[in-house]
Amino acid sequence: MKNVVLLGSTGSIGQNTLKVVEDFPGRLRLIGLAAGNNAELLAEQARRHQPLAVCLHDPEKAVDLRERLQGKTDVWQGPEGLVHLATLPEADLVLIAIVGTAGLQPALAAIRAGKDIAVASKEILVMAGEIVMREAEQHRVRVLTVDSEHSAIFQCLDGKPADSVRRLWLTASGGPFRNTPKEEFPRITIERALKHPSWSMGRKITIDSATLFNKGLEMIEARWLFGVEMDRVQVMVHPQSIIHSLVEFVDGSWLAQLSSPDMCLPIQYALTYPERIASQRVQTDLVQLGQLTFEAADNKRFPALDLARQAGNRGGTLPAVLNAANEVAVQAFCEGRLRFDQISDLVAGVMNQHTAIDHPDLDRILQADAWARQTAIGRVCG
Ligand code: NDP
Repeated sequence: MKNVVLLGSTGSIGQNTLKVVEDFPGRLRLIGLAAGNNAELLAEQARRHQPLAVCLHDPEKAVDLRERLQGKTDVWQGPEGLVHLATLPEADLVLIAIVGTAGLQPALAAIRAGKDIAVASKEILVMAGEIVMREAEQHRVRVLTVDSEHSAIFQCLDGKPADSVRRLWLTASGGPFRNTPKEEFPRITIERALKHPSWSMGRKITIDSATLFNKGLEMIEARWLFGVEMDRVQVMVHPQSIIHSLVEFVDGSWLAQLSSPDMCLPIQYALTYPERIASQRVQTDLVQLGQLTFEAADNKRFPALDLARQAGNRGGTLPAVLNAANEVAVQAFCEGRLRFDQISDLVAGVMNQHTAIDHPDLDRILQADAWARQTAIGRVCG
């Protein structure tokens, strides 16, 4: 039996994780669940799974949750609560699926407490990949990945060292605007941007998939997870979203991982690793599909890819700045205060204003994050 703590249980990844855990009642047990403010759903999940502890970010909602659970489960709140859950002595694995940066501190706390982590929240590795991977090595814990692209690469590499890799190829569906002319970008509405052609995901990542910032963040994530330089991380567009990513090895051979697009599969792989457990949940019929196609990514229409490469190459605090500025820009777009095409302009402007610091510690990273948010908000308002 593997004891799992799930941070972000009410979100898209969180709810899929519950499905997977429910598929394997004898093998996986949820002992901690955390969310932002959805007390109602968290209470229902807690009643179903009887975890040792739950946590809500919002203190008022935590009061509501305590009443709903009538003292049957330990209820925590805020960032301290997340760290408490992430370090529960009974925990074997902490899966972090919180949108935004709130997952970073509990991820590090879990590693320092000797827990394996499974990362959905790409912000963690984008902001602090160097620290997270170093600490994981020091504490001899695994950093597993829930992102479908990185799970694919992890499965293809299967323990082979970074020097056997010529290039890692992340696939991108291309998003809803794969064929939309650049001139139309200023008129793209939030409703259109939220219509992803192949994946059903949370709001922030869906907008990031439309701008391709999601792929940019994944490039930086891959660089840290697999220990390769940015130059060896490439992107290709694969509209069917069946090949989740590929590895090109030094001898010219390629390996790919394929399946219908369903997040339950990478979640299950991370939860049950190193085993591969039988499941009928995800079915893939390649014959019915008939065709898999590939295109070059269009860096001109989607400047996010070059910005991410620039941030990943420079390293230091610059990836945290890109991530924070993008979060502000997405929020402003969702509130109708920024046009779709202005998202990447805003991020580029904030990155250009930043003086990056090499090998930052966590405090410096958080300072850069706060600075970038403030600067981005200033630019939106100004
Ligand atoms: P959602 O917006 O659907 O869910 C976010 C979750 O985080 C919710 O449970 C939310 O709680 C919780 N949360 C937000 N703020 C806090 C906080 N301060 N403390 C505790 N919990 C908090 O996002 P997704 O599930 O789509 O994405 C989660 C992460 O996984 C993101 O980093 C995303 O990039 C990554 N990811 C997602 C994929 C997907 O298919 N969805 C694929 C690959 C990666 P509440 O409901 O109460 O607000």
